[in-house]
Amino acid sequence: MSAKNGILVVAETKGEKLANVTLESLTKGRELLAGVGGELSIAIAGANAAAYVDAAARYGATKAYVAEDGELATFRSGPYTDAAMAAIAAADPAVVLFPNTLNGRDVGSRCSIRLGAGLVGDITAATADGGRVTVLHPCFGGSLIAEKQTTSDPQLFTVRTNVFERVEEAAACEVVRLNVDFSPAGLLARVLDVVVENAGLVSLEEASIIVSGGRGMGNAENFSIVHALADTLGAAVGASRAAVDAGWKPQQCQVGQTGKTVSPTVYIACGISGSIQHKAGMQTSSFIIAINKDPEAPIFTFADLGIVGDLFKVVPALTEGLKRRAA
Ligand code: FAD
Repeated sequence: MSAKNGILVVAETKGEKLANVTLESLTKGRELLAGVGGELSIAIAGANAAAYVDAAARYGATKAYVAEDGELATFRSGPYTDAAMAAIAAADPAVVLFPNTLNGRDVGSRCSIRLGAGLVGDITAATADGGRVTVLHPCFGGSLIAEKQTTSDPQLFTVRTNVFERVEEAAACEVVRLNVDFSPAGLLARVLDVVVENAGLVSLEEASIIVSGGRGMGNAENFSIVHALADTLGAAVGASRAAVDAGWKPQQCQVGQTGKTVSPTVYIACGISGSIQHKAGMQTSSFIIAINKDPEAPIFTFADLGIVGDLFKVVPALTEGLKRRAA
């Protein structure tokens, strides 16, 4: 067991809720405590951070380090790193779990530098024994799954969304309020406006079903059939880089090595060849369905279900079939 104290989950919030990846990290953290020792705590930052404590307690956090300050009203790298560092100093954890989101990777890597501690990013499995955590982590664009430990203390990790389960197990949670000493440099950047793209649509990272389109879609207008299928399934819409580079979809939709990493229950790829860079972002999906007119397309080598055919016939037929079934 480590001389340090347990596991600290650095929270990500999504509107009025804790993000799924935070609930998944708490659930995994509970399990890892058997091999790490100490308690499960959470660091929450925001203008209204205390509002999330009840949710953290439902997932087993026994201590919440709350940094509540107007400077934390919207995400900024500097102040959010200052808040995470204040929680780490107060908790003295053996292990810190950050979300593997844009913001989580930003804060996690900054904490890693400030602490001089190793960080393994984008973990997809974890076990703990004798105080050390061993993780699996896809690297080289997902072509290799590496088993890793960090040799430093604390041990830092970023956790991939949708990989670990979310299971409630309520605990009494003590609240520790933090006074964060914000570094002046971090406060220099000001957020003037926040534009929420695709408000109301299912978010790609948290979606349990994703329908993605690639170069085979032909143009932006044709994506309407992908949207129709996604709407029928309550799914999010993704895209390959070829579709994004062509301007058919915004960059936020891109799945892959230089886009988002997703792990839905079902991933439906329409007109996507299955390049190594696209695969890197979606290969941990539980069930992959590929629709492609080329039977030799690489995606068929790792899809669970392959449909060889013209997507302009297959996708609308699938949508109609699902609608009929729902009716
Ligand atoms: P293509 O490879 O052109 O495939 C289109 C497919 O559509 C073909 O298989 C074709 O048979 C099929 N098709 C065409 N018409 C139809 C039809 N009517 N019905 C059915 N099927 C049809 N790519 C990403 O996706 N994400 C990334 O993050 C990413 N990062 C990259 C980073 C680097 C450093 C590099 C070098 C590349 C990256 N790429 C990324 C690009 C990647 O290498 C591929 O070029 C890209 O994924 C190809 O996209 P695609 O599958 O949509 O297009």
